[in-house]
Amino acid sequence: MKKNNLVFKFFLIILISLTIISVNYNCFCCKIFAVAEEREIPILMYHSILKSKRGCYVVSPSLLESDIKYLIEQGFKPVFVKDIINFCEGNGELPEKPVVLTFDDGHFNNYYYAFPILKKHNFKATLNVIGSFSEFSTSSGDIDNPNYSYVTWEEIKELHDSGIFEIGNHSYKMHQYKPRFGIQKKNGESSEEYANALTKDIKLLEDKFKNECGLNTEVFAYPFGAYSKESEKILRKNGFKAFLTCNEGINKVQKGNASVLSHLKRINRNGNFTTYEMFKKFNIK
Ligand SMILES: [Zn+2]
Repeated sequence: MKKNNLVFKFFLIILISLTIISVNYNCFCCKIFAVAEEREIPILMYHSILKSKRGCYVVSPSLLESDIKYLIEQGFKPVFVKDIINFCEGNGELPEKPVVLTFDDGHFNNYYYAFPILKKHNFKATLNVIGSFSEFSTSSGDIDNPNYSYVTWEEIKELHDSGIFEIGNHSYKMHQYKPRFGIQKKNGESSEEYANALTKDIKLLEDKFKNECGLNTEVFAYPFGAYSKESEKILRKNGFKAFLTCNEGINKVQKGNASVLSHLKRINRNGNFTTYEMFKKFNIK
């Protein structure tokens, strides 16, 4: 009986000691490893907005509006990519449920259909412009057709100045499959030749943004989602800080940790899905 009592006391002491150690350890951990603020951010990728067609890269205006209404109902708050940059660099705040809408290629129909819808719902978005397409529309005067025109420099300026659109660089003339796939290095091209070619291309668009629209951007959207470590290094040298890929998924970002900006994931908004199907598929709620 006495022996049993001793064993019981022994285990009781061990149990109490472990509890004390564990509580102290957790407090210690909390202090040393301050838990960083985290956010989950879906970034949606739209292209054309048209009434007459729908497809993988074409969404109707009513479907876009239904997406926005759904996001508002679910408590999402729209942010720009630059807000994510600030948060990741430890300089800014993000709402509890941020969401980013991106529009690639600079279709005039984004200006024509998406702009008024965003304005109506107090939403915002990022427009990733292909320089040569906008230059062609501007200089040829072949403008304002939702089916095939691209936004002019003047329209880009208006979108940016409205505060509803943030503008991103989607290359000047590298949004093509040949002679290179997007901004990828060509076969047989030296690192120096590649760096010169890519720098020249993105600078052309940066200059247009600066001179024609009075803006600058740190956001780069990879044409066709193609990238490499080498391309990122060159782009970073030219002032870009956030890179939009076509890798599918939802981003997990942490305050003060900028590494996620190298490969921000996006979800293509396929116009064949209803709002409900789309957000259920990617568990956005
Ligand atoms: Zn594109």
